[in-house]
Amino acid sequence: MTDVDVVVIGAGPVGEVAAGRIADGGLSVVLVERELVGGECSYWACIPSKTLLRPGDVLAEARRVPGAAEAVKQSGRTDVKVTGLSLPNLCRAYIKEGVIESIVLWNTLDLGALTVATANALATGRLAPGARELDAGPFGTYEIAGDEVRLGAPFLFNKANIDRFTF
Ligand SMILES: Cc1cc2nc3c(=O)[nH]c(=O)nc-3n(C[C@H](O)[C@H](O)[C@H](O)COP(=O)(O)OP(=O)(O)OC[C@H]3O[C@@H](n4cnc5c(N)ncnc54)[C@H](O)[C@@H]3O)c2cc1C
Repeated sequence: MTDVDVVVIGAGPVGEVAAGRIADGGLSVVLVERELVGGECSYWACIPSKTLLRPGDVLAEARRVPGAAEAVKQSGRTDVKVTGLSLPNLCRAYIKEGVIESIVLWNTLDLGALTVATANALATGRLAPGARELDAGPFGTYEIAGDEVRLGAPFLFNKANIDRFTF
């Protein structure tokens, strides 16, 4: 049997932090979990609830841009330009009319390509824990922060490029 200084029961957010701090402080620690490491927050509470709420928020936000554009258009103001986070298909007509100069969003084509490139790099061993950069070949190089591959700056959709996108 092994002796340890501290046994932490439950690996929810509190247990994980407690065990980490105890180890950082130089004591030996065992973390005991009966179900899932990460606890309620990761699997049933904070993260799943925000994952369900955020898409609705984003969609509502995306719909506000053409709504504002329609209001500006009907007011006859040509000195006001609408912009925001929205979708090409919702804003195309207003962008072509010049009521919206540009909208901003991450390019879903890049997102898909990056997901496949990341999976490929992981599967072939080209991406290992601790890496700071992902070389995604023709799709470019992406920064890695912790366990996140960062997509980088969002894309500006405007009159010149809007017809290349259908989402
Ligand atoms: C819908 C919802 C949304 C939430 N959103 C947020 C949010 O956005 N931000 C936020 O900060 N908080 C949020 N919370 C609160 C957050 O989930 C809790 O505050 C947090 O999970 C508490 O952490 P904990 O480690 O104390 O407990 P828990 O996460 O419950 O972890 C306890 C762990 O102990 C284990 N355990 C229990 N008994 C034993 C045993 N005898 N032996 C071994 N293991 C055992 C359990 O299996 C569990 O994994 C939300 C909660 C809910 C319900």
